Amino acid sequence: MILIVIDGLTPSMLEATDTPALRFLLDHGEYRRATSTFPSLTPVCLASIATGAHPDVHGIPHLVWWNRQEQRLVEYGSSFAALRAAGLLRGLRDSVVNLNEHHLLRTASTVYEDLEDAGLTTAAINITTYRGRTRHLPVIPGFPPVYGPKRFFFYSVYESDRTGAPIAFLNRSGGSIDAYAAAIGRWLIARDGFDLLVYYLPDYDYASHAVGPDLAYEALMRTDTCVEALIDAGGGRDAFLDRYAVIVCSDHGQSSVEQAARLEVPGALVTASNRAAMLYGQDPRALAAALDSEPAVDLALFLDDGRLVARRQGDEDLALLDEYPDGRARAEAAVRNPNAGEVVLSAAPGWEFVDLAGRHHVGGGSHGALAVGDSEVPMLTVGLGAPPSSITGIKATVSRHFGLSAAQAA
Ligand SMILES: [Zn+2]
Repeated sequence: MILIVIDGLTPSMLEATDTPALRFLLDHGEYRRATSTFPSLTPVCLASIATGAHPDVHGIPHLVWWNRQEQRLVEYGSSFAALRAAGLLRGLRDSVVNLNEHHLLRTASTVYEDLEDAGLTTAAINITTYRGRTRHLPVIPGFPPVYGPKRFFFYSVYESDRTGAPIAFLNRSGGSIDAYAAAIGRWLIARDGFDLLVYYLPDYDYASHAVGPDLAYEALMRTDTCVEALIDAGGGRDAFLDRYAVIVCSDHGQSSVEQAARLEVPGALVTASNRAAMLYGQDPRALAAALDSEPAVDLALFLDDGRLVARRQGDEDLALLDEYPDGRARAEAAVRNPNAGEVVLSAAPGWEFVDLAGRHHVGGGSHGALAVGDSEVPMLTVGLGAPPSSITGIKATVSRHFGLSAAQAA
């Protein structure tokens, strides 16, 4: 089975595509629009894909958050400048190593752990939530050993096998990361080297942030060639579908950004990035109320006596969440994450919260909020029956395909 995750691909973009490989898969599978998690940001979403759960279970709260145990900020890379502001080496270690080793809760299991415990071989290329059972030494000195799937390839930093793939980072805007993934994908398929391959293509999101949603045609064309590479390596179209069941999805959507705001709340530590933010501090209702007249904030979410509260401009009503796909469940899971702030903020339409370094995507695209544009993802299955309605359903679809029992698919 092959799971293809195209970062930031919106449903409308996939539905309208005439790129050859993606159109071929669409014509041979079952398709629906599905829902992401919240905050709809890549580290949170990829953890939900890997664990089949929302952040209350997996523990990854945001792109940037306050680690209460260690009393420090964790920044996974809101922007390169934000990473530098948080401390570049620390940031790289957080996003590459600590996310999997420490932040991803041990009470959640990953699809790699479940399948390999059942005797199957999993492979992952470039996906940032990769926790598995096999110890891997770094190719680039300075990084510690990590535990990943048996076949594990991560941006030229960790490589379980020598494949001859080009270095991942040389030309980011030209699609060099996906080209690296394609070279490894071809190598793995040629050797029949896996039961499950998770094939993560981030370059589309990078382009869509720059130009805005539904406009990154060139990037989608390049993404398509990376999918075509797998089909070719599998012996062409018919042979490929004979050999593999396939899921194509994205982790979150994108919506247009016209304005950016810097959030400041007296008495709170603010962690903001893209279209979501967290407030860490005492008295969540007072912190939320401080933003009642802030136009960039759509909803402030917090717990009052253990119960979820959704607040907009001073009104508190859970029905506000019904405006959004899976709104109540996603809001609840976001605030019940032990690593989340006391208040979780979802941005208003057209708004973004600047990150640690003041960066934003005004004039382009962004995501992170509960809004439909940020939250809807394309979900295509080929040879697997009906597609799941949420990215949290992907792991169960995979487990079912391989016949794992309920106990094995923990
Ligand atoms: Zn993004």
